[in-house]
Amino acid sequence: MNSLRPAPHHKAEDWASAKVPLLRFLNACHSDFAAENGGNVASYIPELGKADPAHFGISLATLDGHVYEVGDTKIPFTIQSMSKPFVFALALDTLGAAQVESEIGVEPSGDPFNSIRLNADNHPFNPMVNAGAIACSGLIHRAKGDGALEYIRQALGRFAGRELGVDEAVYASESATGDRNRAIGYLLRNSTVIKDDVSAVLEVYFRQCSILVTARDIAIMAATLANRGVNPVTGEQVLTPYAISRTLSVMTSSGMYDYAGEWIYRVGIPAKSGVGGGILAALPARLGLGSYSPRLDSHGNSVRGIKVCEALSLHYDLHMLNRSDDARNSIIADYNIGKSASRRSRRPHEQKILAAHHHDVRIIELVGTLTFANVDYVSRQLAGRPRPQFIIFDLRRVAAITRAGARLLAEGIRELAVFNVTVVISGIKRSTTEWEPLGEWVKGISNLRNWQSLDDAIEWAEDQIVYRHGGTIDSTEITELSEQALLAGLTADELTHLASLGTVRTYQPGQRIITAGEPATSLFFLRSGVVHVKLPDGIRLATITAGMAFGEMGLFETHRSADVLADNAVTALEIPLRDFQRFREEHPRIGERIMRNLAQLLANRLIAANARVNLLTTN
Ligand code: GLN
Repeated sequence: MNSLRPAPHHKAEDWASAKVPLLRFLNACHSDFAAENGGNVASYIPELGKADPAHFGISLATLDGHVYEVGDTKIPFTIQSMSKPFVFALALDTLGAAQVESEIGVEPSGDPFNSIRLNADNHPFNPMVNAGAIACSGLIHRAKGDGALEYIRQALGRFAGRELGVDEAVYASESATGDRNRAIGYLLRNSTVIKDDVSAVLEVYFRQCSILVTARDIAIMAATLANRGVNPVTGEQVLTPYAISRTLSVMTSSGMYDYAGEWIYRVGIPAKSGVGGGILAALPARLGLGSYSPRLDSHGNSVRGIKVCEALSLHYDLHMLNRSDDARNSIIADYNIGKSASRRSRRPHEQKILAAHHHDVRIIELVGTLTFANVDYVSRQLAGRPRPQFIIFDLRRVAAITRAGARLLAEGIRELAVFNVTVVISGIKRSTTEWEPLGEWVKGISNLRNWQSLDDAIEWAEDQIVYRHGGTIDSTEITELSEQALLAGLTADELTHLASLGTVRTYQPGQRIITAGEPATSLFFLRSGVVHVKLPDGIRLATITAGMAFGEMGLFETHRSADVLADNAVTALEIPLRDFQRFREEHPRIGERIMRNLAQLLANRLIAANARVNLLTTN
């Protein structure tokens, strides 16, 4: 590309004029290929001959809904044969695939678009040549009668994300001169592919070809094809993934007519051209491209449009068959509770059980899209290692799951259930419909749990391990001050003295004990029950059980940095910080002991936090 390099004299002050690389590339394509003056504007439809051969627009729509536009992307022109894939897809969903597939073939014909020839079964070769497209219009006409054109126009509008009009002049011009297409129409009736009024069907076809689009529309329509039928700008699922994938199939084999083989060999992106000068290219899971330039080559394909597609494919190596993927990137962390436990404080006997059985809870944190290859890779990481009692798959960083990925994951979960391994899934965003197939395929499995947060999942699995080994997690039991880690090493008298400074408080389940932002004036020793510490944004920092202190950060900070709420009925000894400080001053030896205990607790917390960070960065 001649004009791709940014001008060397750009200064830092020109930052506002900086372009994202793809826009710069499309600009370069536009300026390079605008000089290309080969080919001729179509004139066999007289009205098309009026197009301005200088018009040139390129638009590219991404699957996150961004639309790049360069040049004449707002000039309307007729869609012509680019309507064919959409009407084929519409027919598949409207009449059912079986019906459509029994009447229209899917083999490339190797013939020009307007060839008057049917296959050995007397059916059109495929829906991309005129014979197949007219048959598709006939199918819609069979289903919708006089409403056929309107039905098509509405559907194409959903692909474009806006209402599309019809160019009546181009329509009238094609209808007046369309005898070749009439010949095809009558041939189709002769072979009973068209069963009703041929001329009505042809009018639908001529009108559908005269629907007005811009390069921008075409890019969005292509992106919808590339996105399994979901318009990336409006978010609407326009047609079924089945119809879309089959449409892309015939675009791949026949979209560029008697240039189709060469096209897919060289460019490797499913595409469709129209004699109005448009080219639509849809690279599955990547992008949609729309270009407009009315000069055509001998196959009826836009000369500049072809150049743009070739350049895009070559420059970014986008050929759809030239792909690879490293499935190993999907595991971001793989550990057990010995390396990183839940944020619940554990009593000594619980700690002992969990330490002895830390191999029994394995956590695998996944990231990205769960595809066939990714889930297969993950499944193989389970084999060849000691069998845990619990496997937690944390999916909060998983952006999407393919059907193949969901199928393999469901099969893996079933397999684990057979071996009595409980599978816990955390972090699925409930709103996405993508998880539905997985939900359906794992229905009825008893060894499967689902938690919103990973920490809840780990805590639950730890609890099960404690129970299985005869431990109890009794939160109603009253603990003495002597069991408080912060007060370890104090004598009975010293503890009694300290207790006399405070007041025993009780809280109801759900009650707020500490509020973030308020001045820190006291510290609490939890005697019974469970509380949790939560940041204002909802993230749970810790679950605290009897025998632990909370609010102790008030010794260092003037204001509360988190909320503390009671999980169940709670009793706690609240000691005003003022009195606690005075006690420390009056009893320097005890004060020092308490501060040393606190340093130890904070160090443990830091070690746990570092272990967590480490797990995520060393994988
Ligand atoms: N309406 C045009 C025709 O039937 C469409 C052809 C095309 O775009 N290739 O001739």
